[in-house]
Amino acid sequence: MPQKPDLPNPKPESRRVGYAIVGIGKLTADELIPAARTSENSYVAALVTSEEDKGEAFARAFDLSDRDVYTYDQFEELADREDVQAVYIVLPNSMHREYVERAAKMGKHVLCEKPLGMNADDARQIVAACKKARVKLMTAYRCQYTPEHWAARDAVQGGRLGKVKLLDSIHTQVETDATAWRMKQDLAGGGPLPDVGIYSVNIMRFVLGTEPEWVFAALHQPKSDPRFREVEESVAFTLGFPGGIMATGLTSYGAAKTTTLRVLGEDGSLLMDPAFPYDGLKLQLTDEAGTHQPSFPEYDQFTQEFNHFSRCILEGGTPWTPGEEGVADHVVMDALYESARTGKVVTLKSSRKKDASRGPDKPQLPGK
Ligand code: NAD
Repeated sequence: MPQKPDLPNPKPESRRVGYAIVGIGKLTADELIPAARTSENSYVAALVTSEEDKGEAFARAFDLSDRDVYTYDQFEELADREDVQAVYIVLPNSMHREYVERAAKMGKHVLCEKPLGMNADDARQIVAACKKARVKLMTAYRCQYTPEHWAARDAVQGGRLGKVKLLDSIHTQVETDATAWRMKQDLAGGGPLPDVGIYSVNIMRFVLGTEPEWVFAALHQPKSDPRFREVEESVAFTLGFPGGIMATGLTSYGAAKTTTLRVLGEDGSLLMDPAFPYDGLKLQLTDEAGTHQPSFPEYDQFTQEFNHFSRCILEGGTPWTPGEEGVADHVVMDALYESARTGKVVTLKSSRKKDASRGPDKPQLPGK
């Protein structure tokens, strides 16, 4: 039974954006519902779930009524709920497109979990559906809303490390449940790469602000292990960015939890370790003056995302990580799978514009 947290709701509901959260899995229960309660401009107005009982238990614990709980079949009834301006899709990856399209048709703005779709074509359809319906779409890339990742980006782009040469990033974890949707190709669209390796790809692109020109990858899939009958266990990859910058990544469902990002320049380096958990991020900068570990204010990554998307809705902005940013990662990941399949380097036709797939409205960082 969910516990009711003792957290404030700072503004009256009429001045905040109401969200319907679709899918009450671990992320929704442990992170998103509590995070919305500390948001300055967002609140959870409804829940959409396959299990009505579970939805009702959560509703009661979070000051919603049973009438705020909808089954997947009742999703379209949200059209009549004026207090629901946005829908947050937190479902297995293969279900993102269907629910984004259904939400957009109702005129609701959409915040969608990563990866945006199953592949670049699927993600492009998601973007097109939201454009057609004239609703806003944000890909939930929480690491582009943290002060630590922005400090890393500022160090890279502000010249503190000198000319940047190399990056590396690891995101691994051990998955034990062979029956989980994450292990089914038709539900997940791949293994660790679109689930956790995506963080490495996304943050490398974010700190540089450019897109890879070529990629190369190899993967390992031990099909005799029931967990890896359908998806890979591990991927090792290289991305070639403009100016000869090379980045390597490792991702796996078979290696102990590790999340790192390192950037090496001519005059210095930075290390984030850990780089991708929900809290406790650590950034270390090394330059001619020595090694320095900056400190940052306390904040919640999911609250940051709610605040940003709601601000875009209330003030008419474009999210920093719109649907196009989700497509851009899929383009890279599709090319990585192609490279692993063919054993060849895959070249990409990327825009040369800085932050080409990001919105103009930068997130407000805590303490600023
Ligand atoms: P989960 O397995 O915990 O929950 C998934 C939800 O979908 C549940 O409500 C479940 O009942 C429902 N569901 C509907 N059809 C299902 C099916 N066929 N199989 C399994 N569940 C089904 O998943 P999750 O970890 O909450 O992941 C959901 C989405 O959120 C994914 O896209 C994932 O990549 C993303 N995610 C993001 C983060 C992050 O840090 N941003 C963390 C975890 C998950």
